[in-house]
Amino acid sequence: ESVIVAIDGPSGTGKSSTSKAVAAKLGLSYLDTGAQYRAITWWMISNGVDVHDADAVANAAAKPVIVSGTDPSRPTITVDGADAAGPIRTEEVTSKVSAVSAVPEVRRLITELQRTIAKGAELGIVVEGRDIGTTVLPDADLKIFLTASPEARAARRSGELKGVDVHATKEALIKRDAADSSRKTSPLAKADDAVEVDTTDLTLDQVIECVVTLVDE
Ligand code: C5P
Repeated sequence: ESVIVAIDGPSGTGKSSTSKAVAAKLGLSYLDTGAQYRAITWWMISNGVDVHDADAVANAAAKPVIVSGTDPSRPTITVDGADAAGPIRTEEVTSKVSAVSAVPEVRRLITELQRTIAKGAELGIVVEGRDIGTTVLPDADLKIFLTASPEARAARRSGELKGVDVHATKEALIKRDAADSSRKTSPLAKADDAVEVDTTDLTLDQVIECVVTLVDE
């Protein structure tokens, strides 16, 4: 039967790498919900919507058609048919995504999309995000909440983004997590029944192993 795994936590905890690897190992689908919020943010920017105008964002939220490919070996994301994988990773999108994702109408639409995708995954799915265990899929079979020290998270992020300074990365990460944790609608949070895994002193392989073992239990 199908198994649903929710993996939440702040950025730089190894969520994406872990989620993709676990899905691939177990033959499950994979959904990166952060990519969906980034995609809608990219559309807002491209279409001249002021991301700090919550009413304007809410009014436009249903316009873009966001499609996620859920194969963990090659996840894809398109907006109105255009490949968005590159554009959603820019610094501009990263700095504006928290404002867009705080708008309740955006969350309502994206959450609906996420539930439809999860339901359609025949063998099951690993869904990574911030509010999957608490809000999107509260009946998930397994909920994981990944954490790591701010230093470890910033170091991992600046390793991914070559040539970016660790201090600036750390400040930006802390700011984004604070915004994601303090918004009123489904903030970044650990579900009561989630298993917390501190990845600060673990290798990626150890984290993957830990999650796979928890799924098998
Ligand atoms: O995971 P990633 O860093 O790509 O997520 C980008 C942003 O999308 C987060 O900072 C957050 O504002 C938003 N997000 C969210 N809820 C989720 C996943 C991501 O609000 N489930």
